[in-house]
Amino acid sequence: MKTSKKGILLLIIVILLTQITGCQNNKSEPVESKTDFLMNTISKIDLYGNKNKDTMKKVYSRLYEIENRMSKTISISDISKVNELAGKEPVKVNPDTYEVLKEAIELAELTNGAFDPTIGKLVSLWDIKENEKERDTIPSEEEIESLRSKVDYKKIELLPGYQVRLKSDDVELDLGGIVKGYGADEARDIILKDGIESAIVDLGGDLNLIGEKPDGSPWRIGIQNPTSETGSHMGILSVKNSSVVTSGNYERYFEKDGKRYHHIIDPSTGYPAESNLASVTIISEDSIIGDAYATAFYILGVEESLKIIDKLDKNVEAIFITKDNEVYLTDGIKDSFTIENEEFKLIDWK
Ligand code: AMP
Ligand code: MG
Repeated sequence: MKTSKKGILLLIIVILLTQITGCQNNKSEPVESKTDFLMNTISKIDLYGNKNKDTMKKVYSRLYEIENRMSKTISISDISKVNELAGKEPVKVNPDTYEVLKEAIELAELTNGAFDPTIGKLVSLWDIKENEKERDTIPSEEEIESLRSKVDYKKIELLPGYQVRLKSDDVELDLGGIVKGYGADEARDIILKDGIESAIVDLGGDLNLIGEKPDGSPWRIGIQNPTSETGSHMGILSVKNSSVVTSGNYERYFEKDGKRYHHIIDPSTGYPAESNLASVTIISEDSIIGDAYATAFYILGVEESLKIIDKLDKNVEAIFITKDNEVYLTDGIKDSFTIENEEFKLIDWK
């Protein structure tokens, strides 16, 4: 596969992350490490401590299985089959695809529809590529409006026997905003089951940090400076046993007349989200919810996202970075995050 500019950037982030997490102590070197391109991004898995020769293989074959079932661009995937028969017949899918769709619907409800897994047609219309710099035209208002008004996760029918049907062919499933998170959780579960207590799973910035560093200290994660082209970090987060997922406007975008059009689409407008945020990082137990919340909160902006977090029964913490380099932290993460770049300012919002 051709290495894209984003691929190189992600690789730099991965290397940087490894250095931050790994350079503190020589004992902290992973016993096994593997980098690969899947789910349209660079993945890297580091296993520490006791080596189990099959673990890495098992993890990657599971990740490929997930991609083959849930990618909308793989024609034989469950998701493609459901999309193909939209408005017609139900499709029997694999239990894991069913489980991810169920979770996606719940997360759509919890985020007031900001995260919506039926956004596929709008995502295809914008077709934001990885290393596209400039574009002369954008989709017409009419096209956007006609698709926007139809995005609706309530059109997904989950039927008994793992059968799924879309009630209308106006909508198309796209699990791109959640599937890396699911993959990171699945990878974690395989690693833990194999008795490995210390590992880092990184699926293109969706991190699942297993246990703690072998020396017993927390993992130290660099949070990317969203304005930096080189993947430098603006702060350090110290965590154990946790998922850390980031969505940002620097990941995939093009520019037209000086305006940036990125890959996170606001279902209420049909356009790339226009909140004042540059990135959102979610710290939670599971990456699947972190992934969906990062996408949704990027769209909703700080104020509305904080209201949602306040009402959640699960423990979800967040780092919001605005386009003006202001940083908002939720209470539970305040002692674990340090800003290391003086261009960024912590806002005392309480
Ligand atoms: P992420 O990189 O996790 O923020 O997810 C972005 C990806 O999720 C995009 O490339 C689309 O495939 C998909 N997506 C974009 N906007 C939305 C949305 N509002 N709800 C759900 N998925 C979305
Ligand atoms: Mg996401």
